[in-house]
Amino acid sequence: MISVEEAQERMLATIQPLPAITIALAEAAGLVLAEDVVAKEDLPPFANSAMDGYALRSVDTRMEHGRPARLRVIGTIAAGYVTEQAIEPGTAMRIMTGAPLPRGADAVIQIELTRSDPTDSSWVEILQEVAPGNNIRAAGEDIRRGQRVLSQGSEIGPWEIGVLATVGQARVKVIRRPRVAIVSTGDEIIDVGEPLQPGKIRNSNGYLLEAAVRRAGAEPQRLGVARDTEESLRQVFSQAMQHDLIITSGGVSVGEFDLVKRIMNEQGVIDFWQINMRPGKPLAFGRIGQVPLLGLPGNPVSAAVTFELFGRPLIRKLLGHRRLYRPLVEVTVEDGVSERTPRRHYVRAQVRREQGRFVARTTGHQGSHITTSLLNANALVIVPEGGKILKPGETAQAIMLDWPEE
Ligand code: AMP
Ligand code: MG
Repeated sequence: MISVEEAQERMLATIQPLPAITIALAEAAGLVLAEDVVAKEDLPPFANSAMDGYALRSVDTRMEHGRPARLRVIGTIAAGYVTEQAIEPGTAMRIMTGAPLPRGADAVIQIELTRSDPTDSSWVEILQEVAPGNNIRAAGEDIRRGQRVLSQGSEIGPWEIGVLATVGQARVKVIRRPRVAIVSTGDEIIDVGEPLQPGKIRNSNGYLLEAAVRRAGAEPQRLGVARDTEESLRQVFSQAMQHDLIITSGGVSVGEFDLVKRIMNEQGVIDFWQINMRPGKPLAFGRIGQVPLLGLPGNPVSAAVTFELFGRPLIRKLLGHRRLYRPLVEVTVEDGVSERTPRRHYVRAQVRREQGRFVARTTGHQGSHITTSLLNANALVIVPEGGKILKPGETAQAIMLDWPEE
């Protein structure tokens, strides 16, 4: 048996990020930038007002014997328009937030610090002295022309999209999204819409994995259920080879009808690992032709947990992410874990915050067929290998799948 970490390393060592493509900016959320982005212009592109107020010369705001300066108002500048008029000594212009600063002005005073007559817009009184540069956003203050604003390998989220739009990047070069084939296996598996028949169960893994693959950032395609025959597997795999990754569930154990490994050996290469973990000991990894294949165990909880530990990091590596794993935190396990297993145990748990600490409560019966143990779980508490238990109130490491809402 090998450790989870060793299996992860061996698997990821064979995986390279996918090729880059150029796509419309709006499609880029969640993907990884494949080039540095350099600004072609200053941002802001021109000096402009940070407030609604009056553009003026700061020297004209000086008070004489405590009396506010009175300036002649010579016009109005709205955002989006440029004026040819210049500010001369003793004059001011009404200016709106984002409007370009007129020539001659070196400051803006906000409207709240002025007084004017609503029936006579030809003058304004300035109630406070201001310094040069007051309420002015200088050209290039945010981004300088030629500056690198984002570097290759950055993950593109909504805020990055905003900055890319700002610098005019209508199209961006990104690592393309992996297309992932999902194959369920087993003669006992029927589709979700069908009535149960003797000996049959519904295909939960196919749907669970489809959603998990999508959430990991890849594009899933469920290819249905392969029967436990070599012909059926060959047929589904021939379809699956159009993809960047194949994820199977079931058929990788040591049973008589566990044929996935056999087909991998026939059509590619296989590494089959017994991993020192629970749930999910048997895991196959290799290739069908050139396409990597991750063979997850069939038990739904095992499939779910091994996807988190192996499938998600694999997809993130294909996507070009630098950070492949979820964060680990220390949690206090309120109810403890009394079950002993020689393998490392990933216990589904609900973690919440309490007085600045993370407190975990396990989600009940942890058998690998107890699908309801996945419900309400936002973390996997790690009980180290070697038959350890956790007493109530003991601390452990946990993989956070989602942060508590509080
Ligand atoms: P296997 O590894 O193929 O022996 O499957 C192990 C267990 O997982 C068996 O009880 C299967 O019935 C169950 N199983 C396999 N595939 C699925 C699936 N797609 N959905 C739900 N349960 C499954
Ligand atoms: Mg099976």
